[in-house]
Amino acid sequence: MSNPSLLILPGDGIGPEVMTQVKRIIDWYGEKRDLAFDVSEDLVGGAAYDKHGVPLSDETMAKAQEVDAVLLGAVGGPAYDNLDFSVKPERGLLRLRKEMDLFANLRPAQCFDALADFSSLKKELVAGLDIMIVRELTSGIYFGEPRGIHIEDNMRVGVNTQRYTEAEIERGARAAFELAMKRDKKLCSMEKANVMESGILWRDVVTEVHADYPEVELSHMYADNGAMQLVRAPKQFDVIYTDNLFGDILSDCAAMLTGSLGMLPSASLGLPMANGRPKAMYEPVHGSAPDITGQGKANPIACILSFAMALRYSFDQGEEAGRLEAAIEKVLADGARTGDLMGPEGGTPLSTIEMGDVILAALDASL
Ligand code: NAD
Repeated sequence: MSNPSLLILPGDGIGPEVMTQVKRIIDWYGEKRDLAFDVSEDLVGGAAYDKHGVPLSDETMAKAQEVDAVLLGAVGGPAYDNLDFSVKPERGLLRLRKEMDLFANLRPAQCFDALADFSSLKKELVAGLDIMIVRELTSGIYFGEPRGIHIEDNMRVGVNTQRYTEAEIERGARAAFELAMKRDKKLCSMEKANVMESGILWRDVVTEVHADYPEVELSHMYADNGAMQLVRAPKQFDVIYTDNLFGDILSDCAAMLTGSLGMLPSASLGLPMANGRPKAMYEPVHGSAPDITGQGKANPIACILSFAMALRYSFDQGEEAGRLEAAIEKVLADGARTGDLMGPEGGTPLSTIEMGDVILAALDASL
């Protein structure tokens, strides 16, 4: 059988710096765990614009459709801020999400014990936190028509439309229930069924899908209450399923429970391909961090944890994903810190490469 295939798109800014460390980890799995990948690499974002005049070429898009999973670094930077909207680096990312139809965005909020002091909440509220937000990514108010700004009675009016079909709600709900089955079997669905018809439909459809997952304990919550509960008692949640707009806000809120942007991975999944694997793209939540680009300061952990998600969700290698996460937990517990993780007590931060070194050493030690 051929090796699983990965397309690496390092992108801009610190994207290539953190991705270099991920490539070392990928090589480690090939050498030490007999888990080799066919890796190809290409351009996205400003890097693609510089070469092709577009933030994602048709050839790269076609490659992304063929591989088992895409790993992306980050896109954007000041050099591209004044480009026309149609060729901005972010358009490359949006094209990938749209054409691969990646409708389920998985954003874990996991608090490593060693970093619990970094949370804006009290340590006891977040220590051991492990929740997963599933955000519907390709429909809802960011895409609904009609939209625009027009004149009515001599006044400008801005319009966006929240629109969900039951099929759109259902496929994301299935992804969320499937995840819950692999975790603590608890799913909380969040909407505003009290004031929005799309919320009423959301609640109905999620309840219908629940019939296929009777082992999962399903609850419903209004999204505004969900926001309060996330900062009041976040450990009450396991999997949260919510729409595109609420998910955008709630996942950022949950992310900050865990401390630094440099620690946050994500996955975006679509429908299964012919080989049964879902269409998938994995990427850190952070951007291209122009303020630290080229200085060797970037924390590679968010990108490495994104690869751990790929191992788990694309390649059914949950144990190996756990090994990688445990290696990261271990180095953090031993005090390894990049600059973004330095507390007020100070110390000497590790460089991006040094953080890669200690994680690889912890992987070796795990054998
Ligand atoms: P950012 O995430 O790039 O940076 C925010 C802050 O966090 C900066 O101070 C940065 O140094 C720090 N930071 C981020 N990742 C880090 C890491 N791995 N290690 C250490 N520190 C880290 O967000 P921004 O500054 O708002 O945006 C910069 C550029 O990135 C913009 O062009 C923006 O459009 C783009 N962006 C891209 C993505 C993406 O590719 N998915 C996401 C957000 C922003």
